Amino acid sequence: MNAKEKVLEIIKRLKKEYSELKTALKFRTPFELLVSTILSAQSTDVHVNKVTEPIFKKYKSVKDYADVPLDTLRKDISSINFYNNKAKNIRASAKMIIEKFDSKVPKTMEELTSLPGVARKTANIILSNVYGINEGIAVDTHVKRLSYKLGLTKNEDPVKIEKDLMDITPKEEWGNLSHLLIFHGREICQAKKPKHKECVLYDICPSRNI
Ligand code: SF4
Repeated sequence: MNAKEKVLEIIKRLKKEYSELKTALKFRTPFELLVSTILSAQSTDVHVNKVTEPIFKKYKSVKDYADVPLDTLRKDISSINFYNNKAKNIRASAKMIIEKFDSKVPKTMEELTSLPGVARKTANIILSNVYGINEGIAVDTHVKRLSYKLGLTKNEDPVKIEKDLMDITPKEEWGNLSHLLIFHGREICQAKKPKHKECVLYDICPSRNI
């Protein structure tokens, strides 16, 4: 099986296991997903959803986030890792979206990655989950680990991993592949104790005995 056939087989098998092909982060608007995704770096989606539930009731519009005093926003998200920088980035992104993008979260990789605190991973999540655009593949910690274990990449740098995955995956599956590897990483192929014997990818995985 070559790499392209292998990734298709992985997608086919994992689609049978995980039917909800969307982010576990809760949001109602594109800007709320931007907030959640910025908060999710080095934090779990479950924790982020707990933190955002009251925030999303308190702040309704992009302007609300631009206008809130930094100290107030810091306190609102203080249980999240790196809350100081994340509060700054959320406020600065809100201001930039109002000033440069007519108060709308932009729809291109270039524009999204011009926002403070937004790198390719966050931009890919927004583009795929909000606008249905596959411009790249979001590489988080699970996608990074599983891609390596499954032999889909030899790289450790997320940008290089993304390129490797894009080269072997049909474009229409880019968003799905990211979601599927994240779900499988949470449920079965966990970093500390992968459940090899329960894994539907066991027979095609080069790391099954590690
Ligand atoms: S066989 Fe093991 S290492 Fe390979 S994907 Fe499954 S759980 Fe992960």
